[in-house]
Amino acid sequence: SLDSNYRGRFAPSPSGPLHIGSLVTALASYLDARANRGQWLLRMEDIDPPREQAGAAQQITNSLLNHGMTWDGDIFWQSARSAAYDTYLQQLLNKNLAYYCGCSRRQLAATNGLHIGACAHPGSPNGDAIRLRVPNETIGFNDRIQGSQHRTQVELGDPVLKRKDGLYAYQLAVVVDDAEQGITDIVRGVDLLDASAWQIHLQNALGLKQPRYCHIPVIVGDDGHKLSKQSFAPALDDQYAFANLRLALHYLQQTPPPDTINDVADLLLWATEHWHPQDIPARRQFDAINQSL
Ligand code: GLU
Repeated sequence: SLDSNYRGRFAPSPSGPLHIGSLVTALASYLDARANRGQWLLRMEDIDPPREQAGAAQQITNSLLNHGMTWDGDIFWQSARSAAYDTYLQQLLNKNLAYYCGCSRRQLAATNGLHIGACAHPGSPNGDAIRLRVPNETIGFNDRIQGSQHRTQVELGDPVLKRKDGLYAYQLAVVVDDAEQGITDIVRGVDLLDASAWQIHLQNALGLKQPRYCHIPVIVGDDGHKLSKQSFAPALDDQYAFANLRLALHYLQQTPPPDTINDVADLLLWATEHWHPQDIPARRQFDAINQSL
């Protein structure tokens, strides 16, 4: 059903150029927003300088524009948001909903790196991480594609919100900024499905509204892992934007546009009018497509 209050977003980390997997995610969030006559915002998740690649943010925005996907408003840069992140962290610490944690990776190895329940090595503001205290209750939510989800405290553990090296964690930044930008709908890869449960716990702790979730499958490379910028998936060639978009629609199992459609702008309009998110498979991986076809 149409929701003109819809606000969606694409939130790439500038750790490399877009590849076909990120194009599929960007396109799904774009089409879902446009089909709802909603806004589509672009947020650059540049909070992890060691993982950044020089020039990647510019490559990403060029690529989106070359593929005809224009965002609404200005780009939102997370690197400018430290003050807001600190305010929210302080609020959580004051309410004892977050804590300084001195546990090492090795100490958490027995629980697969998860920090479950009471902290065995409480930390201090000087050089320790801050974790969210996940309550001992099952979190449930309904994903538009993946269906009904449940995660227990033991499955999740307490996520890091601020790392001991001083960097803000993705879980904190994404929740604070989705709320700041008034995001109603999150469309992203299924690799972040589990993270949604952490994010809902954090929204609850901060008294923020819960958006709708729509987690689409991801493209898996020959090595069996999700295509990713960090694993150097081949960059999109912007010269072939039209073909790239057709391929992305194919992954999303949308009806292929007719042969009368032959440019990027018309393709996006057509795909918006024929957007059927219910046709996206409720799986973790897209079927492989032979790209030489
Ligand atoms: N920045 C994250 C990534 O590139 C995505 C965040 C999100 O969509 O919530 O994987």
